[in-house]
Amino acid sequence: MSEPRPVYRSPAELDAQFRESRIQTLITVNLHTYWSIVIILLAFGLWDAYVDPVNWPNAFAVRFAGAVIVAATGLFQNLPGRARWMVPLAKVRLLVAAVVSIVAASMLDRGYGFGVAGLIVIFLTGPYVAIDSRDLVMTHALTLIAVAVTIVALSMDPFDIAGTVVFVVLASVVSTLLGRVLESSYRRNFLLELEEHRDARTDTLTGLANRRAMQERGHVELKFAKRSSAPVSVILCDLDHFKNINDRHGHEAGDAALVRVAQVLRGALRESDALGRWGGEEFIAVLPATDAAGAREVAERMRAAIASTVFPDHSGHITISLGVTTSEDVEDALLEWDLMIKEADQRLYHAKHAGRNRVVADVPASAGA
Ligand code: GH3
Ligand code: MG
Ligand code: MG
Repeated sequence: MSEPRPVYRSPAELDAQFRESRIQTLITVNLHTYWSIVIILLAFGLWDAYVDPVNWPNAFAVRFAGAVIVAATGLFQNLPGRARWMVPLAKVRLLVAAVVSIVAASMLDRGYGFGVAGLIVIFLTGPYVAIDSRDLVMTHALTLIAVAVTIVALSMDPFDIAGTVVFVVLASVVSTLLGRVLESSYRRNFLLELEEHRDARTDTLTGLANRRAMQERGHVELKFAKRSSAPVSVILCDLDHFKNINDRHGHEAGDAALVRVAQVLRGALRESDALGRWGGEEFIAVLPATDAAGAREVAERMRAAIASTVFPDHSGHITISLGVTTSEDVEDALLEWDLMIKEADQRLYHAKHAGRNRVVADVPASAGA
């Protein structure tokens, strides 16, 4: 598994992430709005009956067929696991509404004017169902093609054809402009949310994941481990006599030492391991797919790396104590995480009492406490 989502990825990855977040928003907002299209399609039957009492039943039959298609697509996307179908199906509904609007209008006296007005409104709803402006242009293109095919099939009056084409093209241009304005505001919000997400999970001093991010990471790794029956290990580290360093060299030197410790610990871990700041001068590593023996080795490497580092702001070396625990058979990931933290903390405590600068990975009794 990879590190918790870094915020700034390549532009292509960021775009994919943006589109995915738009899809999720569309699903949340649009899963049930198809009913309003059904109602509007059918309600126009009343208007048809008012403007053309003779021909309205034919137009209504077309509207009814359109309403059935729209309802069917809506019911389909509401089946379990089909929510993502909402995104393409919303375009199908737009297209159906456009075609129904022209066909119904063509059956009514003075229907043309109303048909064009209906088409304009339908095109203007494009931004409501599109993921971004690229998707909106595609939606318009498909709908325009469907409208063109329908116009040809109906062998409409050339004057009406010209009028319909002009207004529909204008409507799709306006709709695209609206879509672009909306998209830029969606993108700004998306970046702000990503930044907020990152800030809320980053330790400002060391740049490592903070406690909250590590909790989330731990839960994710344990859930993953549960599915794949792989072990997960957790290492808690605490700087030895760190208070003395602050007292002797000042808080700023203490901060600089914490930053350096973070770098050295990171360097002692594999790419797939997660490292975070657990508290003031405590760090935590989560090691996916690592058994007890592997975790003990990693902890020993971390200890040795810190012990051999020269800290420029003060004389002497810093040492750390580490408590290691491994979960090999996860039942309940959330409960397991709390138990692991508790156990790692107890072992860290025993490492302190056994003289510091050491790793404790066994039951406390054998730690020599
Ligand atoms: P022990 O070996 O038992 O862990 O001794 P200790 O002195 O490290 O332990 P203690 O918990 O008594 O003290 C931790 C110290 O870490 C106290 C606090 O001033 C210091 N500390 C915690 N967070 C920060 C920080 O962000 N910056 C600095 N400079 N110091 C910090
Ligand atoms: Mg401490
Ligand atoms: Mg300490």
